[in-house]
Amino acid sequence: MKIERFAPSPTGLLHLGHAYSALLAYNSAIRSGGKFFIRIEDIDQIRCKEIFIEQILDDLKWLGINHEKPILKQSSRFKFYKKTLQSLWDNNYLFGCDCTRKDINIASAPNEKTLYGPDGIIYPNTCLNKIRSKKMPSTALRLNLNSLDKNNFSFFDKKYGKISFTKEEAIENIGSVILARKDIGISYHLSVVLDDAFQGITNVTRGEDLLEATKIHVILQYILNLPTPVYHHHKLIRDEFGKRLAKRDDARSIKNYRESGYSREKIIKMLN
Ligand code: GLU
Repeated sequence: MKIERFAPSPTGLLHLGHAYSALLAYNSAIRSGGKFFIRIEDIDQIRCKEIFIEQILDDLKWLGINHEKPILKQSSRFKFYKKTLQSLWDNNYLFGCDCTRKDINIASAPNEKTLYGPDGIIYPNTCLNKIRSKKMPSTALRLNLNSLDKNNFSFFDKKYGKISFTKEEAIENIGSVILARKDIGISYHLSVVLDDAFQGITNVTRGEDLLEATKIHVILQYILNLPTPVYHHHKLIRDEFGKRLAKRDDARSIKNYRESGYSREKIIKMLN
């Protein structure tokens, strides 16, 4: 019995890529006699809009997707996120960082080849060895991978099989990612891990653009003593030029297809 979820950020309309992901997760849950949840990932209260939430839920219903109730909104979980950050801080897993994007670009520039991880340029660890305050600072907070007491990690993916990686590889290829943004006090990586566990998600279905990010999530699950779900990082839906669909691409939004008279069956056929 699988417990799956679809976790949209309501910063734009649902497009074909989202529909593919949601249907894959939904069908996988239902076929196993399991449950399917929708989670609204609205930690960025400036970019997320109520109007998109309404449209997304309406589109999912139109696609024939039924879900468990209530719908979890991440914006109701800030207190819990803060508590977890405090315990990570107390256990030396975090460091404060007040670098701007420009600071990071400048610090990375002398390297022959700037390295990119799941969140863009790999942080050059400028703030890593700054003197630590006892109190958790109100700057951005980054994960200190040197504090890990485990060297080998792995997870299972339905498409890729067993994926293994080491602490050293994570330090090199992922780096000190942000777990709390200064402006909103949390980040995608930490909230997604906490909420997948909170909702008892056993299977995570999402695009393969997140495969590297999953390594961060597996590390966080270890640190926080949470179970690691089985993942399915599926293909990305692309436009006729091979470019992956973006939120801005309103022409391929489900809303637009619906308004142009497409049926649910036609959309599903387009996704196969
Ligand atoms: N809110 C994320 C997104 O829309 C969810 C990704 C995930 O499934 O973990 O990309």
